[in-house]
Amino acid sequence: MDPERRTRLNTIEESAGQSALFMLYLAAMLRLHFFGAAGTVTGSRYLVETDSAKVLVDCGLFQGWKGLRERNWKPFAVDPASLSCVILTHAHLDHSGYLPRLRRQGFRGRVFCTHGTRELLEILLPDSAHLQEEQARHANKRGYSKHRPAEPLYTLEEAEASLEQVESVDYYRTFAPAPGFEARYTRAGHILGSGSLELRVGDRSILFSGDLGRPSDPVMKPADPPPQADYIVMESTYGDRLHPREDVLEALEGLVRDVKERRGILMVPAFAVGRAQHLLHLLAQLRTARRIPQVPVYLNSPMGISATDAFLRHPEDHKLSAKECAAMAEGVNFVRTIEESKALDALDGPLIVIAGSGMATGGRILHHFARHLPDPEATVLFVGYQSPGTRGHAMLSGAGEVKLQGRYVPVRARVVQIGGLSAHADYRELLAWLEKGAAPRRVFVTHGEPAAADALRLRIHDKFGWDAVVPADGESFDLD
Ligand SMILES: [Zn+2]
Repeated sequence: MDPERRTRLNTIEESAGQSALFMLYLAAMLRLHFFGAAGTVTGSRYLVETDSAKVLVDCGLFQGWKGLRERNWKPFAVDPASLSCVILTHAHLDHSGYLPRLRRQGFRGRVFCTHGTRELLEILLPDSAHLQEEQARHANKRGYSKHRPAEPLYTLEEAEASLEQVESVDYYRTFAPAPGFEARYTRAGHILGSGSLELRVGDRSILFSGDLGRPSDPVMKPADPPPQADYIVMESTYGDRLHPREDVLEALEGLVRDVKERRGILMVPAFAVGRAQHLLHLLAQLRTARRIPQVPVYLNSPMGISATDAFLRHPEDHKLSAKECAAMAEGVNFVRTIEESKALDALDGPLIVIAGSGMATGGRILHHFARHLPDPEATVLFVGYQSPGTRGHAMLSGAGEVKLQGRYVPVRARVVQIGGLSAHADYRELLAWLEKGAAPRRVFVTHGEPAAADALRLRIHDKFGWDAVVPADGESFDLD
């Protein structure tokens, strides 16, 4: 090559290199921080940071082990006043329940979510505050808190104030939550209003799976296929487990018949939002098909009742016909006041009581437990995921006694679980969801116990050959 031409080429290469460098400079910083749901399923908090904005995706409470719950009391990892906004994937408290506490620390920005999520937040956040206040009051009365006086994590007033920051948007509609950001929800099939969240910053994109439901869920519409994204933040609650291939209706039918025969009580700790409606629908199906005898059913949860109302108001979010919706509520006794709730303990079986909370960490199910767990004719049915450290997890692991409000109660009741009732996809279903989308540059596997997250990471790598990592708690990544 003649020297002059070579020099010319070198100059072009050099300037191309420089412009690439310049482009890199222009491609503003995009950083993803994991402040929760890393090594655990609770406390979902992901921060997406650019030079001009800080967007917090999910704002969840830590639940389960005491060490985890104590993290709710620590100051937030960055100054909450510096956050541009919060975007929620769904209303469950491990994704939304930290909002009032964030507000207390100075966050005044907007909180984006779907319409269904907004309705549920209006039920869940005040209830969560109420529970916090109740626990603090109780601890002060009995003197079993180390802190004197025991304080609630947040008050009802603060929960209501944070609801005023909420702004709801449609599924599939692109909105601009912060400078330089575009966002869009697709369906996640988990609970009313649940979404996967697509975030775009310039030419880069991150998809947050949110909690993904089961494609075969009899109540919720299935998740949409994942939109194309450079990075995926993927939940892994059941990253190492398959749901049993049991016939859920048959399993429930067997339990109800058994309760009738034993004249016992069937206590179902159920997530007021999601599983409670699912269960009511299945019981209605069994009743309609005359597969179960008449057994009184009590939905002992004001929150479950409100959530059922919200569910019936959003037919676009679920699969049930108007007739099925009507059947769901038919013949169910809705228990609202605490006096009515306590009065249930005096009733003779057979009866079915559905009450919160889903992992038996609080709520009305506890006084039923105190009364009936020592009874061998009673049955406890768990229908959702049980975090390690919760009473539910301990009971399913065979605990002979559980501590209820400061005293130990023996567990003589039968404790069972219908795994197929889960609101979470198992690993085969998670992989099938990923497979419907295009290959990302990297998958961040979160929202799972360490073994579950790592198992899913391996499977993603083995099945698709994609780069997958399990971020450590507090870890940050520059996304280029
Ligand atoms: Zn959830």
